[in-house]
Amino acid sequence: MNLILVLGDQLDLSSSAFDDFDQTRDVVWMVEVQSEAVHVWNHKARITIFLSAMRHFRDELRRRGYRVDYRELDDKANKGSFSEELKAAIRRHKPQRVIVVEPGEYRVCEELKQATAKLEIRIDRHFLSTIEEFREHAKGRKQLRLEYFYREMRRRFKILMEKDKPVGGDWNYDDENRGSFPKAGPGLLPAPIEFQPDAITAEVIALVEKHFPNHPGKLENFNWPTTQAEAKLALDDFITNRLAHFGIYQDAMWTRQPWLYHSRISSSLNLKLLDPREACAAAQEAYERGEAPLAAVEGFIRQILGWREYVRGIYWLKMPGYLDKNALNASEPLPSFYWTGDTEMQCLRDAIGQTLDYGYAHHIQRLMVTGLFSLLVGVDPKRVHEWYLAVYVDAVEWVELPNTLGMSQFADGGIMASKPYAASGKYIQRMSNYCGSCKFDPAESVGEKACPFTTLYWDFLMRNEQKLRNVGRMDMQLRNLVRIEPAKKTAIAKRANELKESYR
Ligand SMILES: Cc1cc2nc3c(=O)[nH]c(=O)nc-3n(C[C@H](O)[C@H](O)[C@H](O)COP(=O)(O)OP(=O)(O)OC[C@H]3O[C@@H](n4cnc5c(N)ncnc54)[C@H](O)[C@@H]3O)c2cc1C
Ligand code: SF4
Repeated sequence: MNLILVLGDQLDLSSSAFDDFDQTRDVVWMVEVQSEAVHVWNHKARITIFLSAMRHFRDELRRRGYRVDYRELDDKANKGSFSEELKAAIRRHKPQRVIVVEPGEYRVCEELKQATAKLEIRIDRHFLSTIEEFREHAKGRKQLRLEYFYREMRRRFKILMEKDKPVGGDWNYDDENRGSFPKAGPGLLPAPIEFQPDAITAEVIALVEKHFPNHPGKLENFNWPTTQAEAKLALDDFITNRLAHFGIYQDAMWTRQPWLYHSRISSSLNLKLLDPREACAAAQEAYERGEAPLAAVEGFIRQILGWREYVRGIYWLKMPGYLDKNALNASEPLPSFYWTGDTEMQCLRDAIGQTLDYGYAHHIQRLMVTGLFSLLVGVDPKRVHEWYLAVYVDAVEWVELPNTLGMSQFADGGIMASKPYAASGKYIQRMSNYCGSCKFDPAESVGEKACPFTTLYWDFLMRNEQKLRNVGRMDMQLRNLVRIEPAKKTAIAKRANELKESYR
């Protein structure tokens, strides 16, 4: 018999793990372990979404006639460790082969290899591109850039293509994806579909509150999809009600508006409840029906067909060394308000507050508010990574790490991004209404009213000037630095040190 391992982010009925499954003989094995729940200081919603989706998947498999050996977290016999549980399952079932699809985390993959010599790792067909194909793409290239990979993917999967030309004539409508809301705000926003906890989710919520009471985040608002059917409804809801405005407002932010025109499908995709091909096809069809403009549809497809596949490729190409990268030698601790949202900086208060409320923040909040701030402070990228891995319902290391360590912290020295995403408070002022209700002024870099982002931005450039001289596209920012008087530079450095001291 074969033992088929299904991990928490592998809830895919068409997974290659089931290819030759024999219902008379084979057994599916799934386990909830304490060690995974506390590997980082997980948000309660992240633990809940994984456990609830796993239990729903277990029940679906059983309905379809699969034998499932499932160990719940509070089972008295649960050994609490993934490898110990696996060894015990192997002793119980005596399988000829232990089959699993590629895990989403290097550490877990190594742990599985250590636990059994009978392991057969199969390709994860959820992704459009394989790890090996990305290696081929990367071979011989001095520099990896999304744009080349994305064009290859568009051609290969014939998405938004007219013969061999991109629909509309351009590959990329990024320039049209940078709108902000007018002063009056975004107006009436379409409320996204909600999934109120069913009996299984309610049971998991109670379990999480009991076992992880001190973990960050709230569960009162938990309404994420936990089944394939719900994930499909979430996608339909986005395509019908929000896709048309996704493009223009992709980078915009607004106080107490966590969803805006975003899709909220990342957790469904990453748990494998939703197929990325289905998401891209649904967007393309909306364009063909004339229901959404090309810039919105291309922007959305670029995130899934482009970025999502690209970051996975980078992760597996660069691990395990990637985890230890720290190109800017950043060593500050993570400010403690990242776990509470308790800060006078309105942008951080809002982005962290909603993260704790929902386990969600959209891309620009992650990149240009929380990510930008830790970059400017010079927080140790590993601590930043641990926070991002812990607090989002969609966090799995293959996608979280390159986005955090590479894109937002520039710790990989330019593998993910051609230059650091460094900006002053003026960027946040342009893209949101946060600064209007903040006690700080984004135009000021010194003095009582100085916006910490602006002070720390100049300090970041001063501290890293030598390193950044070799980084293309930083010229203009460094030229602006040269224009600052020495006395002001000293004042900025002093204020920046005081700020950093206060966050330690
Ligand atoms: C520091 C940082 C950490 C991040 N951590 C994660 C993470 O742990 N898990 C995760 O799925 N995404 C992560 N992202 C990418 C992105 O922020 C989220 O995918 C997005 O905010 C999820 O919300 P949504 O489903 O509403 O996405 P939308 O804005 O509606 O985008 C549609 C889809 O595109 C994909 N996508 C968009 N941007 C990216 C990207 N940069 N990389 C990979 N896929 C992308 C996602 O699957 C997303 O669901 C991170 C980004 C940053 C800057
Ligand atoms: S002034 Fe600075 S700290 Fe305040 S909201 Fe704007 S960018 Fe954030």
